[in-house]
Amino acid sequence: SKDNGRNRVSFFSKKLEDIIHEKVRIENKLRKAISQGELSFHVQPKLSIAQNKLISVETLMRWYDPVEGMIPPDRFISVAEDTGLIVKMGDWLIETVFSTIRANLDDINKVGLKAFAINLSARQFYSSTLVDNIAGYLEKHAIPAQMIEFELTESSVIEDVELAIRIMQQLKDLGCKISIDDFGTGYSSLSYLKRLPIDAVKIDRSFISDIPQDQNDVEISAAIIAMGHNLGLEVVAEGVETEAQLRFLKEHQCEYAQGYYIAKPKPLSSLLEEAESINAS
Ligand code: C2E
Ligand code: CA
Ligand code: CA
Ligand code: CA
Repeated sequence: SKDNGRNRVSFFSKKLEDIIHEKVRIENKLRKAISQGELSFHVQPKLSIAQNKLISVETLMRWYDPVEGMIPPDRFISVAEDTGLIVKMGDWLIETVFSTIRANLDDINKVGLKAFAINLSARQFYSSTLVDNIAGYLEKHAIPAQMIEFELTESSVIEDVELAIRIMQQLKDLGCKISIDDFGTGYSSLSYLKRLPIDAVKIDRSFISDIPQDQNDVEISAAIIAMGHNLGLEVVAEGVETEAQLRFLKEHQCEYAQGYYIAKPKPLSSLLEEAESINAS
């Protein structure tokens, strides 16, 4: 009946209102979070499979709200992207990662960490100030550029491939490395991949999580590793949660593995302490 229809409409618009309200609420809180120092980052190691050593880390943004506690990136990164706040947050993260490396460089060298990877969102990647800011922060904190790697998703690159290649080349010219994140989830990957000035591809977690049971995922992952190697790229597998998955990656000569089986994301200070005690034992 007519009444039912109207109820349905108001039911959906109520939900939509809730979603918008939640976004505005997060946006307002996020503005404060940036200025009040509630943002931080965790690091998750990447394991060199052949050497069985942790040799680099990915930085992952964290937001600690005094009232709500830890708010996960899935709840704030997309709001930050939609509102453009990500540009400021990402810039803050880059400088904070560099100053943290500088302050801990002795320990970082002692435990053998060679690189830090930083995620760049599309908005941030295409912003006109990105490359100059990175160059300035590298110099200000005296960070060797080869210690820094940037992770870009396929979907960011596809937005404007020509411009993306130019910006990537500028980052490469500074001496930084570049990897393609969430690889395999985008479109038309193969046609442009060989034109990109990149060092590595990261196989998306969705292809790793059902190895070895899912034969499709086994074949896709094996194909991505082989294709990456044919293009002279290193391959990183993310979301490695089991010994069987790690064994599969080793058999296929995948260079790096990242995931809960190896280590969960944690504060850099915790990782450095653990690594030191492992070395000392
Ligand atoms: P991502 O770049 O694909 O990062 C990997 C995510 O997978 C992280 O979630 C990590 O904690 C999680 N993860 C790692 N190993 C495992 C595993 O074995 N199993 C499972 N189930 N998950 C695993 P997190 O930290 O919640 O970050 C989620 C996403 O938020 C990231 O996905 C990235 O897209 C975004 N993000 C995080 N930090 C930043 C940042 O600083 N800048 C930007 N632009 N995006 C960020
Ligand atoms: Ca990433
Ligand atoms: Ca990913
Ligand atoms: Ca799957």
